[in-house]
Amino acid sequence: MPLRSKNRTVKYRPFLRPWVFCMYTMWPPAIKRRHKANTLAEAHETYNNNSSLIYQLPPELILDVTDHLQTVDIFSLQLTCRRYTCLLQSRSRYKVTSHDRALLWDRLERDRYYRLAQAEACDVRNLHSILCSFCRDSHDKAQFQVSEVYKSPHIRKCMGSTGLLRICKHLALSFSEVQERLTKDTNIRCMHWPFSGCTTLFMSQVKHKYRVFHIDDLFWNEFDSSMTLLRSTIQEILMKLAKPVCPHMRTDSPAFQQAILDSTCSRDLVETCCTRRPTTAEFAGPSTRAQMSISCPFKGCDTRVEIERWPNIGGGVVLAKIIRELGQMKSATDPKWCAQLEHPLPGNIGNEEEEFGEHN
Ligand SMILES: [Zn+2]
Ligand SMILES: [Zn+2]
Ligand SMILES: [Zn+2]
Ligand SMILES: [Zn+2]
Ligand SMILES: [Zn+2]
Repeated sequence: MPLRSKNRTVKYRPFLRPWVFCMYTMWPPAIKRRHKANTLAEAHETYNNNSSLIYQLPPELILDVTDHLQTVDIFSLQLTCRRYTCLLQSRSRYKVTSHDRALLWDRLERDRYYRLAQAEACDVRNLHSILCSFCRDSHDKAQFQVSEVYKSPHIRKCMGSTGLLRICKHLALSFSEVQERLTKDTNIRCMHWPFSGCTTLFMSQVKHKYRVFHIDDLFWNEFDSSMTLLRSTIQEILMKLAKPVCPHMRTDSPAFQQAILDSTCSRDLVETCCTRRPTTAEFAGPSTRAQMSISCPFKGCDTRVEIERWPNIGGGVVLAKIIRELGQMKSATDPKWCAQLEHPLPGNIGNEEEEFGEHN
């Protein structure tokens, strides 16, 4: 006996077997049947024989019906009952694709969520984290609007999934919309007619990791390269634009205007970039290239405005663009994503455009 059991261990490699098995079929690894499982199964069988209409269907009819089902449905049916397991195994004609796997995974997740929701129903008031039907996961209560907390976990959604990312005055997208559109294309453009090409959201790959950015050109002005560019000139241009940068900053807000005066800049023609100098009223002297970047101070918000002066382009230009990083967009609770959202109140949706201000 001891010899035999030793052989077995070597032969089947218990750690490897379930994994390899899973790779080729959709069957879960063999599990030990629970205590009294057989007694229970017999009781079910007796019940089904007498009371379950679908159980009483003749086998040929069931086979006829299942001919029209997707693989994932057949597999789910097999899992419900021993009768169907045996019956449908005889026509294991199907091939399992990764799409089937994804569908099955989705169903298992839905099942799991359903059970969690049942458990949660007991006491929402005292829980620190509650369930979100969009993410099918639990988040901290702070991730939800107050009105959502007491909703059923089957409809409750976190702010990250209901909030909208404002891209320009014509376009605001939710998390799922951005995700869906980025699977089809690496860019999302505002297609408002007359086409202004106002803004772009795009995905970029940095060291095998995708990150999503929103980039918007604030302005592109000609500026004589022989002249000195003053900070107050930039202030004026941005004051006139009066555009929102992110939910926390506008180009005409006092804090932003002050930041134009306070930010250090790099003049990388002579001293190479990253040379820090005490700030002066002058942004760039005659024929000097200079750059400055203003970041949003809000926690989690990864937004910056880059202002550059190029004396060599044409007769010289000064330009500014908004760069907002939205993280990897893998979860609706990513702080970088959440920081960029607007949460329109139900009554407020109508006047969004006015609030957004003028757009040139
Ligand atoms: Zn059964
Ligand atoms: Zn969520
Ligand atoms: Zn637009
Ligand atoms: Zn911000
Ligand atoms: Zn400087």
